Amino acid sequence: MAQPDLSKLVSLAKRRGFVFPSSEIYGGIGSSWDYGPLGVELKRNVKEAWWRAMVYERDDVVGLDSAIIQNPQVWVASGHAENFTDPLVECPECRKRFRPDHLDDPTKCPDDSTTLSAPRMFNLMFKTFVGPVEDSANQVWLRPETAQGIFINFDNVLTAMRHKLPFGIAQIGKSFRNEITPGNFIFRTREFEQMEMEFFVKPGEDDYWHRHWIEQRFNWYRDLGIREENLRLRDHDPDELAHYAKATADVEYNFPWGWGELEGIANRTDFDLSQHEAVSGKTMKYFDQEANEHYFPYVIEPAAGADRAALTFMFDAYDEEMAPTGDGKEEVRTVLRFHPDIAPAQVAVLPLSRNAKLTPTARDVHAQVRHVFRSQYDDAQSIGRRYRRQDEIGTPLCVTVDFQTVEEDQAVTIRNRDSMQQHRVPIADLADALRSALRDMGSTRV
Ligand code: ATP
Repeated sequence: MAQPDLSKLVSLAKRRGFVFPSSEIYGGIGSSWDYGPLGVELKRNVKEAWWRAMVYERDDVVGLDSAIIQNPQVWVASGHAENFTDPLVECPECRKRFRPDHLDDPTKCPDDSTTLSAPRMFNLMFKTFVGPVEDSANQVWLRPETAQGIFINFDNVLTAMRHKLPFGIAQIGKSFRNEITPGNFIFRTREFEQMEMEFFVKPGEDDYWHRHWIEQRFNWYRDLGIREENLRLRDHDPDELAHYAKATADVEYNFPWGWGELEGIANRTDFDLSQHEAVSGKTMKYFDQEANEHYFPYVIEPAAGADRAALTFMFDAYDEEMAPTGDGKEEVRTVLRFHPDIAPAQVAVLPLSRNAKLTPTARDVHAQVRHVFRSQYDDAQSIGRRYRRQDEIGTPLCVTVDFQTVEEDQAVTIRNRDSMQQHRVPIADLADALRSALRDMGSTRV
């Protein structure tokens, strides 16, 4: 399968309604993107699959949805106010700014080869003010990660849910980072969604749980169809570790521009809870009844990005192949081979043509199908073009209603996106037939 170059994917994403450049009518704004009708479905499916794996299918993880704007002391305690910085260098000639660790030669401007300024540290948190007075007493930050919202609610969740260690708290939500060099489409933006889980364990059991979560998270991408040869695990070097981490492994994907991080699985030790206890003065310890002692749990954190995952699913699903046109010729067929649990639509219902005889039955069929499956109805243009459109947006199954359906047999044709094989089933058996075809394609959700 051919990986597309980035421009091809960006153009398909716009043409088919996955992702649009934000504020385009005003000339756009650097690295902000809007999810269109199909993109919003794709990202919802990614988040849903994550929540299912992390919360619903486990006994030891619960969910949370904390605020984006928090007391600024949270970021003092977490170390972000002081340490959440990237090195920044500037070109005195063209005034462009860069992250030196993103440059081949960190001393020269990549555009005009002028010698760059010495690096200075730049804090990535967005500042804003609450209320009408813009003074330092009212200054807050937009959260740069969802994790701290979990730590500050550790005791609330513990008291409300009466969990014993080990247990985890999962959260999905927006984070904001004033990245110096955003780019590569939705890979790195200044506003993005994270899917994070903090798993609290007894100190001493942290290495075991770290390995457990590294394996679980790698398998999650693989089981949702990302080809294993495009995935790898990479341990952080000691000098690369975040200020809070004892060890971190990244799940990486082989993007057209090289290997890039999809997710980091970090052993955050007791750093965050002990910091919050020290700064807030409130106890953040866990009482272990069996051992009859109070201690700070250690924390294993799988931290993923919903946008990066959506981008990865698009890249990995992309394929082009030669396919017959029906009149003896061949043409390039573009197909997104999404896993059925990730695909924006699972089924498309297509009357052979827009025709007064076919429409009522096709509408009836769609009414039944949409009840159970994520389904689209399309009767514009020729059937061949509609199949191509569904291939290009990655819909696993098309259901075609033709004249035989209404005149003879009350049966419809199911067409498989990958094999392009077609088979006929009675409308009465359609839901079962679709379910079984989606399962054959890997679905565990129908
Ligand atoms: P990077 O090294 O790429 O800047 P990071 O190590 O700072 O990432 P983490 O703090 O570990 O990232 O965040 C966890 C996950 O959140 C990342 O693996 C990624 O999927 C996502 N993420 C982080 N920053 C961005 C961003 N600017 N745009 C989109 N997703 C992001």
